[in-house]
Amino acid sequence: MPSHQPVAGMSAIDPKYISQPSAMASTSEPNRNPKYDPKKPHITDLPITRQNWYKHVNWLNVFMILGIPAMGLVASYWTPLRWQTAAWAVIYYFWTGLGITAGYHRLWAHKSYSAALPLRIFLAAVGGGAVEGSIRWWSRDHRAHHRYTDTDKDPYSVRKGLMYSHIGWMVMKQNPKRIGRTDITDLNEDPVVVWQHRHYLKVVFFMGLIFPTLVAGIGWGDWMGGYIYAGILRIFFVQQATFCVNSLAHWLGDQPFDDRNSPRDHVITALVTLGEGYHNFHHEFPSDYRNAIEWQQYDPTKWSIWVWSKLGLAHNLKQFRSNEIEKGRVQQLQKKLDQKRSKLDWGVPLDQLPVIEWEDYVEQAKNGRGLVAVAGVVHDVTDFINEHPGGKSLIKSGLGKDATAMFNGGVYQHSNGAHNLLSTMRVGVIRGGCEVEMWKRAQRENKDVQYVKDDAGNAIIRAGNQVTKVQQPMNSASAA
Ligand SMILES: [Zn+2]
Ligand SMILES: [Zn+2]
Repeated sequence: MPSHQPVAGMSAIDPKYISQPSAMASTSEPNRNPKYDPKKPHITDLPITRQNWYKHVNWLNVFMILGIPAMGLVASYWTPLRWQTAAWAVIYYFWTGLGITAGYHRLWAHKSYSAALPLRIFLAAVGGGAVEGSIRWWSRDHRAHHRYTDTDKDPYSVRKGLMYSHIGWMVMKQNPKRIGRTDITDLNEDPVVVWQHRHYLKVVFFMGLIFPTLVAGIGWGDWMGGYIYAGILRIFFVQQATFCVNSLAHWLGDQPFDDRNSPRDHVITALVTLGEGYHNFHHEFPSDYRNAIEWQQYDPTKWSIWVWSKLGLAHNLKQFRSNEIEKGRVQQLQKKLDQKRSKLDWGVPLDQLPVIEWEDYVEQAKNGRGLVAVAGVVHDVTDFINEHPGGKSLIKSGLGKDATAMFNGGVYQHSNGAHNLLSTMRVGVIRGGCEVEMWKRAQRENKDVQYVKDDAGNAIIRAGNQVTKVQQPMNSASAA
């Protein structure tokens, strides 16, 4: 979620790459690094060894993301926490978090709604206070993340490990040439984005540390508490929370809309990330201003955007049609159903069964094999005779005969479960004979039902549509 320039304006990307020709770099940004040599291999192109490992580490980011918070933690030991400062730190946590989720993410990276100038200025300011890079940098990476999810071009691919997607991609140096290209020309046309990018260092120091200190200092005289709690430690928490969208939201939860990529939906991730935890939905419908579509799901980012729209500060809130959303959900359900179905024993498919002559069938049954023919299909019920709920004698009376009518109400109207069970005992199909002809005709009339197959090519046998099920007792059965 954060960019390669996560802290204090000094980027994780070596500045020499900033001016490479790309969608985001224009000729107005000449190469400012005189030492830049495009032929020299990037450190990430070299394997990590005992001699060079420290060169692979982005020490500045390690200091900014982990070092400063550690110092803040130590300082908090000597700094009493006043309740006003605690409340302010929590409020400012939500503001700066919303700057990332409602501003950087849903407004600028995805254009899921439009915002009036005062709201854009507010979001650019508090988003800067989260210390996760400029809007321009952040959105560029985030668009690459959506376009190249789970591939090597994804800046924070979870396929490289949970820790990598959370923080590893920032503490280890990255080759910016690896990250997928994206178009951010629209962002270059937003003066708020351009201004924030140009003055990023000032924005980050003022909104990250000075502003929260000023509020606590002028407000209730707690300068040090404001600096430590609403400044440093609040930055740490808001960073870690929003980093979870890249790690946790690609790792924990279910995939109700599509399971071909890693994004997942989970309430815990949503709680941590101000509602960005419905990430499977988000990757399927990224231009929707909502991440949670059910009213009871926790998405304060969505609620804020909605309130702003009522205040006239936001408009053009984009929503996917529920018809499209439901289609995705049904397709995914179908896929799961097919997977479940394929694990069950539905009996040998009819076209794979050997063809048996009627005389052979009768002969084998006479010789003691427990064979019973129903609707032209021969079943070996030898091991089931003793378990037959209707008793041994009834099932035995059908052996070696055409038991279609008996099974379908002539003697007993067998249940759907019985037809399913019978299908697991099938061993052959009878050639010719009246019953088979009848069955074949029934199949022709019912053909669209019998030939539906799932993704794996297995026939879908619906309740009441088993081949052994004959809707009405056939007159010919008694004549056969
Ligand atoms: Zn994602
Ligand atoms: Zn996104």
